[in-house]
Amino acid sequence: MRIDIMTLFPQMCETVMSESIIGRARKAGKVEIVCTNIRDFSGNKHNKVDDMPYGGGMGMIMAADPIYNCYKSLYSDGESKPHLIYMSPKGKTLTQKRVVELSKLDRIVILCGHYEGIDERVIEEIVDEEISIGDYVLTGGEIPALALADAVCRMLPGVLSDDVCFEEESHFDGLLEHPQYTRPYSWHEKTVPDVLLSGNHAEIAKWKRKQSLLVTKQRRPEMFRKIKLDKNDKKLLED
Ligand code: SAM
Repeated sequence: MRIDIMTLFPQMCETVMSESIIGRARKAGKVEIVCTNIRDFSGNKHNKVDDMPYGGGMGMIMAADPIYNCYKSLYSDGESKPHLIYMSPKGKTLTQKRVVELSKLDRIVILCGHYEGIDERVIEEIVDEEISIGDYVLTGGEIPALALADAVCRMLPGVLSDDVCFEEESHFDGLLEHPQYTRPYSWHEKTVPDVLLSGNHAEIAKWKRKQSLLVTKQRRPEMFRKIKLDKNDKKLLED
């Protein structure tokens, strides 16, 4: 898969996407990530990409042309238009389900806004989807874009050591993850649940499932209500 990030701060995106698991996945060729500077498409000698808002108001607005030309530079005339996502607090809130769907595309392009946002006309013309990372406002779309790119990358084959890594995780299956522990066995007089040391895989799986159900019920009752509990789940919750 290829992920393009269109941004005024390519170095910021490049730095984050070069570290840890995603950095290793890039080096191993599991994913291609290209960060492109929108300013390179300003079309003026001062490299200006923003202007004052029509109708007045605070801050500056990113102009349509540099964004349009930057996006057009990312694919050739014969190629189909890559799916363009604008990170925006007005977008649909990102979910793990949407992350999985996006990870199945060959290519996505992520557009980061800055200042007070971008000219609506370029959104209408080239953007396929607007995604928010939550009901709050950040100074720019880079952190949201990095969150999206990271979440998508870890769904790609071979990026994590095993698919089980994400299949048992929070939100993959409409549940939150069970508690996790590592050594030492005893820490601040708290010990690890003994079943996890038992070596009994069936009992461990039952414990994990029960804890997942309980933590979801307690913290996210609206998620819990959507779970289709089978008879084993019901029994686990009764015990
Ligand atoms: N004036 C805009 C509004 O009220 O909707 C907010 C602009 S914000 C200061 C600048 C940029 O940050 C946006 O264009 C967007 O790309 C990004 N951004 C801020 N908050 C975001 C969020 N919750 N999710 C996704 N992107 C966000």
